[in-house]
Amino acid sequence: MTEFSVGEIRVAPIFDIMLPLDARLFFPDTTDGDWEPHLDWLTEAGGYDPDAGTVLFPVQSYLVRTDHHTILIDTCIGNDKKRFRGPWNMKTDLTYLHNLAAQGVGPGDIDVVLCTHLHFDHVGWNTRLDDGRWVPTFPNARHLFSTVDYEHTRAEAEGGAAGSRTFGDSVEPIVEAGLAELVASDHAVDDQLWLEPSPGHTPGHYSVRGRSAGREIVFSGDLIHSPVQCRHPEWRAEPDWDPELAKRTRRTFLEQLADTDTLAATAHFPQPSVGRIISRADAFDFRPI
Ligand SMILES: [Zn+2]
Repeated sequence: MTEFSVGEIRVAPIFDIMLPLDARLFFPDTTDGDWEPHLDWLTEAGGYDPDAGTVLFPVQSYLVRTDHHTILIDTCIGNDKKRFRGPWNMKTDLTYLHNLAAQGVGPGDIDVVLCTHLHFDHVGWNTRLDDGRWVPTFPNARHLFSTVDYEHTRAEAEGGAAGSRTFGDSVEPIVEAGLAELVASDHAVDDQLWLEPSPGHTPGHYSVRGRSAGREIVFSGDLIHSPVQCRHPEWRAEPDWDPELAKRTRRTFLEQLADTDTLAATAHFPQPSVGRIISRADAFDFRPI
């Protein structure tokens, strides 16, 4: 998928990297039997690798151009960052910036960066390494962080928790550069795009709603990770901060969008990761556009 329109709003996914994650570890309450009915369709959709037993998560931003702003929603993994083991650790490729350039957009053209939350795969390109220092990749952008998530992540970092590196290399340098704006999770960017609270995955997690000419889209962030959670909204994702709240938020999202024309632009569903939510007897389905 290159670009599509929602009324006057133009949207393009900007791909960074594919993350293969162990299915049973990522959804820790599930058994092999729970997965069995879903393996065929999920594999066919590109969301599951049966040989490795991994769910496949694309990591991508959405470039959103409203009448007023050029916006990036989430900024993926980034380069040169120490992140556990795996393909996201100390990455050096320029795929992401090339994909942005293919849309005719350079880093200096972005005027708003929205981070749905502050996990490592949503803030990485906020900064890049320049002569040993982390500097903003998008020097003309206001970066809108939820106040609640910012304080939560800062407290984690001060406690030496896993997020501490992310905070230090991808969040705090933005604050120090004077480019961060701490906002409530219902902040309006302009008359076509605004934040909506969707807590649970993190305490201040927000999704983003766009509306133009009677058309709507919701950028879900990580309130949902896989189309298998449309069938099973109750499946807890391992990183969910408050699993019960995350389940309620996920179910509300699915119920609100079900059988409407509102598009769901997900962070990690198989590509194309944008589609509609359809109700079925006992749950929901995702139908890509
Ligand atoms: Zn994520």
